[in-house]
Amino acid sequence: MFERIDYYAGDPILGLMDKFAADTNPDKVNLGVGVYYDEDGKLPVLECVKTAEQRIADPISPRPYLPMAGLPGHRKGCQELLFGKNAQILQDGLVATIATIGGSGALKVGAEFIHEWFPQSKCYVSDPTWGNHIAIFEGSDVEVGKYPYYDKATSSVKFDEMIAFFETLNKNDVVLLHPCCHNPTGMDLTREQWDTALTVIKERELIPFMDIAYQGFGKDMDSDAYAIRKAVEMGLPVFVSNSFSKNLSLYGERVGGLSVVCPSTDEAERVFGQLNATVRRIYSSPPSHGGRVVDIVMNDEALHEQWVGEVYAMRDRIKAMRLKLKSVLEEKVPGRDFDYLTEQNGMFSFTGLTPEQVEKLQSKYGIYMVSNSRMCVAGLNSSNIDYVANAMVDVLKD
Ligand code: PMP
Repeated sequence: MFERIDYYAGDPILGLMDKFAADTNPDKVNLGVGVYYDEDGKLPVLECVKTAEQRIADPISPRPYLPMAGLPGHRKGCQELLFGKNAQILQDGLVATIATIGGSGALKVGAEFIHEWFPQSKCYVSDPTWGNHIAIFEGSDVEVGKYPYYDKATSSVKFDEMIAFFETLNKNDVVLLHPCCHNPTGMDLTREQWDTALTVIKERELIPFMDIAYQGFGKDMDSDAYAIRKAVEMGLPVFVSNSFSKNLSLYGERVGGLSVVCPSTDEAERVFGQLNATVRRIYSSPPSHGGRVVDIVMNDEALHEQWVGEVYAMRDRIKAMRLKLKSVLEEKVPGRDFDYLTEQNGMFSFTGLTPEQVEKLQSKYGIYMVSNSRMCVAGLNSSNIDYVANAMVDVLKD
């Protein structure tokens, strides 16, 4: 009966985690999955989260179903973080926001909504992008195309090609954008480039879908939301999916949000209703625990401040690792340009290593990165950085 069912080849990034776990090399280093590890190589529990957890645990309270859209405080937390605390669009009720099951859940609900209400629209993702973008939209029967984004030869954004491509798209086509810390390349648009890109998006009447999974890891919380706020300022209808997995270090709690900025309150109400209906028929309502943590941390002024500080500490540690790696590589591999390491933002670095070099790092040194050469810089620390740098020197010299 089930013989005709295809085997699942597994997810290339999550599959690396299993391979890493099975590796017996005592020096092994995991630079594959997009997870922040601290200086001791551990997944941190943020102090602000510990406090929130203590409040939730004492007293232990009943667990009713949440509303389909999640906790109001979770939704408000997403809105203020993305659009700014005193944003006029929030006061005017122009934003439909639901709490979602991580950033992936937000993308899924958004993709379902696009499929149902904009059935002619195609979705264009950057080349390259996070693989699940393609899988999620195609899984909702939205046709996916790619727009030019990254030039491997120069380690920079193919901006002119990207803009020329946008000029060819049709009204209501969706362009999936990374407002900060592009995954997998780490290369972001400058403010001027965002202004130009959004102008073309507006002229062509395209729908910007901004996916922000690393807010706070680039420059700062507000700067990282520049593209989102600029699109709002320009009066664009914009979809925003956000994830708290990384910036609250709450990967397994699955917390995120989906926001749709609408031209009028009536439209925002209609969209909010349909987002609820979409949730109802997929998973009915989100889980409560992570939502409560988000609600507490985002809405308690002192905890919020503590949280921002904790995110910036993670950001700064990653930046320090980038600098260190760059200086070792520059010294030991003269004649090759490693500036990209400090030009890229966020957790990831596209190293430009060939698949063979990536494979050699894995088999000879137990160093795991994605075969497209994406390295998660957040997996580096003072104990393993020299080992990784020297291994990179070795494979680069071949
Ligand atoms: N978007 C991007 C760009 C991501 O990198 C990720 C996580 N790897 C997500 C969305 C999904 O986030 P979550 O783990 O919260 O589902």
